Amino acid sequence: MSDCLFCKIAAGEIPATKVAENDEFFAFRDINPQAPIHVLAIPKRHVPSLNESDDGELLGGLVLFARDVARDEGLADGGYRVVINTNAGAGQTVFHVHAHVLGGRPMGWPPG
Ligand code: 5GP
Ligand code: ZN
Repeated sequence: MSDCLFCKIAAGEIPATKVAENDEFFAFRDINPQAPIHVLAIPKRHVPSLNESDDGELLGGLVLFARDVARDEGLADGGYRVVINTNAGAGQTVFHVHAHVLGGRPMGWPPG
């Protein structure tokens, strides 16, 4: 989608600090980190939010990709959180589905 910030980041048209990439997914550091490690994992294909896709390969692949990012960032043993904010009431501000990978500090529960 031509007018989407995260599509442009995945295409290299807007700079970001890349963490990982394969044919289908892209990961980069959040510009406003909420934890010592805060990476965004996205599919390269534009999907606005979790509500808009029933593609299990894409959504399941996104979770596994986020898991691999967490492992490669050294978070697997200590623990991490994978968050997909969906629609405005949950805090979604960028409407290209993305998984936040957060770690490197204790994570409180319930989340804010
Ligand atoms: P949401 O609030 O939609 O769940 O998450 C969007 C995230 O994208 C936010 O954590 C925000 O800091 C991050 N973000 C917004 N614009 C940019 C940008 O231009 N570059 C990067 N790296 N992150 C961004
Ligand atoms: Zn997009």
